Amino acid sequence: MKYYILFGPPGAGKGTQATAMAEKFNLCHISTGELLRAEIKAGTELGRQAAALINDGKLVPDRVVEAMIAGKFNSVKDVDGFLLDGFPRTLDQAEALDEMLEEEGEEVTAVVSIMIPDETIVRRIQGRAAIEGRADDADLSVIEHRIETYHAQTEPLIAYYQAQDKYRQVDGTGTVEQVREEIFKIL
Ligand code: ATP
Ligand code: MG
Repeated sequence: MKYYILFGPPGAGKGTQATAMAEKFNLCHISTGELLRAEIKAGTELGRQAAALINDGKLVPDRVVEAMIAGKFNSVKDVDGFLLDGFPRTLDQAEALDEMLEEEGEEVTAVVSIMIPDETIVRRIQGRAAIEGRADDADLSVIEHRIETYHAQTEPLIAYYQAQDKYRQVDGTGTVEQVREEIFKIL
């Protein structure tokens, strides 16, 4: 089984690229952001707790997202691998993932990172706010807090995966097609 991680700051275009990658390589696309938004929409207790954090630009607790990922690994069949989008986002999550995979005799195949500068993040997220209607996209201070959260908690994962020689980076500022071509070359 392949286990790809799609990495990058908020608004990098992970969701957009994930769809094309999953289709071409027969991967199960797991987006923790989408799973959490589904919980919010369904009005579950988990969704209520997550909404408060997400709409403040904070991360949801590690154990919550780790359990979501484990549940997917155990239930999805008939794929050549998994494409993790938005997970791991902290070192704790990265270590939990390594443990989950090790139990199955598996490991992370590669980390594909879509990189864009902070100014582009703000412009992109503000641009999609009207289209997608996400509460966490609508407010500039929330976007700024998400960028801070990314630099503080998620960026350290780059060194974590570089140390394992699994980190690959593409320039995320090009068109959707250009970024897709770069990613396909890596895979
Ligand atoms: P992109 O636009 O590149 O898809 P994004 O950061 O805008 O990325 P999501 O990945 O959908 O959007 O995440 C939305 C929010 O859900 C995050 O800001 C965070 O609060 C929460 N979240 C998603 N994944 C995790 C995770 N692995 N750990 C903790 N919180 C998470
Ligand atoms: Mg997303």
